[in-house]
Amino acid sequence: MSAKTIIEPARSVPIYGEYEVAVLGGGPAGIAAAVAAARAGRRTLLIERYGFLGGMGTAAGVTNFCGLHANVYGEMHRVVQGVASELLARIDRVGGLSAPHLVLGKILAQAYDTAAYKIAADDLLAAHRVDILFHALGAGVVMHDERRINAVMVETKAGRQAVHAEIFVDCSGDGDLAAWAGAPFEVGDANGHMLYPSMMFRLNNIDPARAGEAWRTIPQLMDEALAKGTHSFPRKGAIVRPQKSGIEWRVNFTQLKRADGSAINGLEPDDLTSGEIDGRRQAVQAFEFLRTVPGFEKSYIVDLPPQLGIRETRRIMGGYQLSGEDVLSCASFADSIGVNGWPIEDHVAGDVVFKFPSIPESRGFNEMPYRMLVPQRVDNLLIAGRCASMTHDGQSAGLRCLLCDGRGGGSCRIASTFRQYPAARHCDREAASRAEA
Ligand SMILES: Cc1cc2nc3c(=O)[nH]c(=O)nc-3n(C[C@H](O)[C@H](O)[C@H](O)COP(=O)(O)OP(=O)(O)OC[C@H]3O[C@@H](n4cnc5c(N)ncnc54)[C@H](O)[C@@H]3O)c2cc1C
Repeated sequence: MSAKTIIEPARSVPIYGEYEVAVLGGGPAGIAAAVAAARAGRRTLLIERYGFLGGMGTAAGVTNFCGLHANVYGEMHRVVQGVASELLARIDRVGGLSAPHLVLGKILAQAYDTAAYKIAADDLLAAHRVDILFHALGAGVVMHDERRINAVMVETKAGRQAVHAEIFVDCSGDGDLAAWAGAPFEVGDANGHMLYPSMMFRLNNIDPARAGEAWRTIPQLMDEALAKGTHSFPRKGAIVRPQKSGIEWRVNFTQLKRADGSAINGLEPDDLTSGEIDGRRQAVQAFEFLRTVPGFEKSYIVDLPPQLGIRETRRIMGGYQLSGEDVLSCASFADSIGVNGWPIEDHVAGDVVFKFPSIPESRGFNEMPYRMLVPQRVDNLLIAGRCASMTHDGQSAGLRCLLCDGRGGGSCRIASTFRQYPAARHCDREAASRAEA
């Protein structure tokens, strides 16, 4: 990389708008934050670089919600409601929501169709009168002073523009806004290792009758192919599961590394470029193997998503860092604003390692404190989603429970209760309480 620089002349930048709350990023965290702020009566703008909402859930083809359910003393319960319920109901209305399915025999997940998610999210934000600015890449901030953001700068087809707001919410997944504003952050584990990215894809024209429950047999078929030397795989633990229509299956099979074996860094343009190209190459290799699985012989790749799936980049340091221990011990917090039922899911070199709270002895979900959303050093900023304040292993579980914002806590009160710790418990935990009783 060249160390040469160029001086960019100062210029006047048009102001796109003045808002009470500006949310950067339209993934699940941004959707929840924007809906919550608007519901609290705040004039709210959501800024998104793509032309649709959903974040990794649509842009990276994830197509599956994890963490909405928990294994509560051995019984499955939906523990996350709030904005998630409003979104899921809309996805269901356009026929894009699958019934929950069992994963690893221990926990439920719920698949969806990406087109339905995009439509549902548009409708949800419109219903709450959130303004949206699509095709706008956040590119920097102008500060009032060291601790307060004045405006976020966005690059659009009409050139650079500025968005003023009283409060900003960084839901970029990468903590872009917080980093520009000077909030401290971490990247990776103690050795700087991040969770590996994956290129998701979907196959169509599968024969559902012949494929049957192929997700159970595929791991063994992979072992046999490896032993015969006919195929090689970037990781164990491939996830190949049907979408709502059994002729279409999603494939989570790839793992994107640098030449030295470390994870592709989603903050580095050259890494992202090679990751996209290598991701598509790995997808084709996976496809070549999958076509040998009964029922998959006539399948084809129907979708490669707009971007590589990035699990982890910056984690902004806040008032509390949710840890892996908090997940495994099903921690509670006085300032809880939501819950997570998903286990630790560590994407390590060549494998995916799951660590669950004790089953059936534990209640199966941890709470998440409001302090996770409050960054250090910047006063009019909140952080939500996968860049919120978590340790590396806490993030591998906690990044999933992003839609649990709802009727009273955390980011839904960002404008009115900024920097207070609301005690509201808005996730539906009646079932959990019954199980605990
Ligand atoms: C391969 C893969 C598989 C996964 N599988 C699952 C799964 O099965 N189930 C599950 O629940 N979770 C899964 N996850 C995790 C899940 O996708 C994330 O937890 C979730 O998407 C994080 O939401 P977020 O809103 O914090 O960030 P993101 O989803 O990353 O959304 C960030 C949004 O901000 C936008 N943005 C970023 N920077 C800028 C900028 N500078 N300017 C403007 N816009 C910007 C992006 O375009 C995006 O829309 C998976 C993740 C990956 C990568």
